[in-house]
Amino acid sequence: MTDKSALNEGFEAMAHDMVLRMTPQRAVILKVIEESSGHLDAETIWKRAKEHDQKLNLATVYRTLVVLKGMGLIDQRYFARKHKREIYESARKPEHYHFTCNACGEVSEFQTGHITELRAELETKLGWKMSHSCLCFEGVCAKCAERCAESD
Ligand SMILES: [Zn+2]
Ligand SMILES: [Zn+2]
Repeated sequence: MTDKSALNEGFEAMAHDMVLRMTPQRAVILKVIEESSGHLDAETIWKRAKEHDQKLNLATVYRTLVVLKGMGLIDQRYFARKHKREIYESARKPEHYHFTCNACGEVSEFQTGHITELRAELETKLGWKMSHSCLCFEGVCAKCAERCAESD
């Protein structure tokens, strides 16, 4: 039997904890990320957040990103060769995948049902329970491919 009141209390404590942990600086940084449809690196987040809070320094931004990630509010992704470029985006976005152009550096998003299907297939076939999957696509975008063809 589940104790409903204990469950509610637990939830309220958690929500309260979230509010306590949501300092103005964290709120500003989260807002910058949520308002961007794109993928921001820490320095870009810092530049944008400074428009709201001039005292903010880059070290605080890095620390805050770790906290927000721990709270499940943002996702950290690695793009480009050797996954060296760290990018942050809102965790509220629907499941999607990324393509990075190695020529111009642009990151494009796309959605596909194929990965969901593949996960379901593997879970049924192999009995795995998957909580996370990440795939990284890279190459040359259409614009850059065209430019390359022109210069040949
Ligand atoms: Zn490109
Ligand atoms: Zn994305």
